Amino acid sequence: MTAGHKAARHRLDAHAHLMTPERTASGIRWIRRVVPDYADLPEDVRVTELLGEFQAERVGALWNLFYPLRPGQSEEINRWQRALADAYPPGGAAPGEQAPAALPVIIPFASVHAADDDPGAVVERAFGALDLAGLKLHPYVQRLDPLDPRLARALAATEESGRPLVVHTGFSEFYGERSLVEAVFGLARRYPGLKVVAAHMLYPDLDLSDWPELLERYENLYLDATNVLSLTAPGTPPGDDMQALLDRWSHRIVFGSDHPMGMAYPISRLYRLPGSIAPHGEALEDISWRTAARLVEPRRLPGTMALDAVIAE
Ligand SMILES: [Zn+2]
Repeated sequence: MTAGHKAARHRLDAHAHLMTPERTASGIRWIRRVVPDYADLPEDVRVTELLGEFQAERVGALWNLFYPLRPGQSEEINRWQRALADAYPPGGAAPGEQAPAALPVIIPFASVHAADDDPGAVVERAFGALDLAGLKLHPYVQRLDPLDPRLARALAATEESGRPLVVHTGFSEFYGERSLVEAVFGLARRYPGLKVVAAHMLYPDLDLSDWPELLERYENLYLDATNVLSLTAPGTPPGDDMQALLDRWSHRIVFGSDHPMGMAYPISRLYRLPGSIAPHGEALEDISWRTAARLVEPRRLPGTMALDAVIAE
């Protein structure tokens, strides 16, 4: 298949980590051990500077993911997410207007820990008073099992709200943990109305060529190709599988940078990937913004993006 397209109409980064100064610094120190490029980003980089980097790459909106490492931190993190989004209010340009000056719209995701006092109440508050856009869990770093009964009410609340759950999957060997293959399909079965977004697509714990059949079977399952596109260059065997998957299933696949903890820096190197891998223009639109835009309420998106997400059926 051929690739190499003009830029997509919009860019929605479906996997970003704007966090407190302490967590940003520890995250950057951690990623430098595997991605030396990040030596070029000071660990005391501020949120405003990171937003400037996204803005320079014409990112119109981003899903912001920030999870607690320990029980008892969720409420503070969820409130921080709301305050951050309020501090940088939606600045999308009006229809027909160029938007080079607009900062990306921050779409804040909640998180929770299985060992919080009342995980269900944490998530209900996050979707109620704080109006966060979805839920993020990182089973490896948070050391939790997404099927833990203590999370049942939190996940049922997410399902009921129509909001997506982004769950880290994949790279089990890197984390020195068991694969999450069973957990992901267990989640999709237990909560059939829950939109489960498998961050990193269980790669490489599950073969990419298995996905088409699984996406057919699990209609509530979505894939986040963040960090995977870096490893599936066109012309390689995984690249061929990725292109075949994108050819038919891009409406169920999102993509993001993982910045400031991504696979390459500066982020322009990551944003080049969809254009080099997408097998056709529709797949490029889907993974660059459209699939992610349709997973959140239109009111959370910049105006032109919301409009295009609705009309480009
Ligand atoms: Zn991440």
